[in-house]
Amino acid sequence: MAKKTDPKWKLDTLCVHSGEGTDTDSKAIRRPIHMANSYELPTDVEEIMQVLDWNNLDKFNYTREHSVTPRHLEERLALLEGGEDCIVAASGMGAISAVLWTLLNSGDHVVASEVCYTGSQKLLGFHFKRFGVDVSLVDSMDIEEVKAAVRPDTKVVFIETPGNPIVSISDIEEIAKISHKVGAILVVDSTWSGLTTQKPLTLGADIVIHSATKYINGHGDALAGAIIGEKALLKEIREAAIVHLGACISPFNAWLVMRGSATLPLRMKKHSENALKVAKFLESHEKVNTVRYPGLRSHPQHDLAKKQMSGFSGMVNFNLKCELMENFEFVSRLKIITHAVSLGHDQSLIFFLPTVFFFDDMVGFNDAQKEKYTNIMGEGIYRLSIGIEDADDLIDDLAQALNEVP
Ligand SMILES: *Cc1c(COP(=O)(O)O)cnc(C)c1O
Repeated sequence: MAKKTDPKWKLDTLCVHSGEGTDTDSKAIRRPIHMANSYELPTDVEEIMQVLDWNNLDKFNYTREHSVTPRHLEERLALLEGGEDCIVAASGMGAISAVLWTLLNSGDHVVASEVCYTGSQKLLGFHFKRFGVDVSLVDSMDIEEVKAAVRPDTKVVFIETPGNPIVSISDIEEIAKISHKVGAILVVDSTWSGLTTQKPLTLGADIVIHSATKYINGHGDALAGAIIGEKALLKEIREAAIVHLGACISPFNAWLVMRGSATLPLRMKKHSENALKVAKFLESHEKVNTVRYPGLRSHPQHDLAKKQMSGFSGMVNFNLKCELMENFEFVSRLKIITHAVSLGHDQSLIFFLPTVFFFDDMVGFNDAQKEKYTNIMGEGIYRLSIGIEDADDLIDDLAQALNEVP
């Protein structure tokens, strides 16, 4: 018998036990992976109808629709995020495109953060425009810009907080009020919070999205996405976008994310502690120009971050007082921290983003926007994903690489 999860358990307990249990057949104390792509059907017509009904999430037919192992992960992530249900998808972008593709029709209006994950910015700023969706990209750090952008025909407001790449913080509670006033659905990409440090649904968001590739899996070995929200809304998304568009997850990846997520609260504590120590070290270093970390008092939105987050997660920005090309030399000297994209892994990762590359990626930036983000980023910024190594080792690694900066 699988143990029954009590939704009232605290987060640490839910991370270990929800969606998990003893295998009924073998008595193995962990559930097995079911890699099968189809399930044997009953022969009774009424029973067949039940299996084919996508609302019956505990009956299985074909793995693109929903299947056993991904469903275990969905049970867990719904409980952790505090939503009615969850859909897991092949990747974070699979989750984001599933939500937007289901909710938007041509002629609809959407308001979105002008600075967010490249894939989302391109999806909204370029692809949805191709289908006649009217997209307003605004600075969602600025409540007045969001207020001015929403209209009676706004269907969706999409924000990312903390936002890629500049750890920008958007006020979820205020933006939820603004969205709901015009009847729009607020979708929050909460990936950078690592789930445990922020609860968008309790602040009024309607749908929360995670790239589970990042903190939730946490080990850099699988791609996955998650969509959490009300059952009725998720039913529409599952049918339209997962079943018909096909961004379904492999059961193996779902199992990896199950396994990785058991330690999520432990890891997030360490990511946050380490990031604050490293950010303070960088802030005190003479060769460092600027540091952005929501846990530092110097972050322009530190107070808002304190209000809506219970920790500040592991993403740090900084740049150096040096020539642009020297940044790549700096990265080559690091011994522990790896030069790679992605984030939220056990190991620390660093990526240097020249501001001109960033502008190439962001669709439709005008001169005023370019000036604003040049003021924040200078010629470029490091996006440093602090891992769960020893903080002093990370600081030593950065210090030896900084020593050689001319
Ligand atoms: C990585 C990331 C995504 C995309 O996730 P994938 O799993 O790579 O598809 C979306 N949003 C944010 C904030 C991310 O960091």
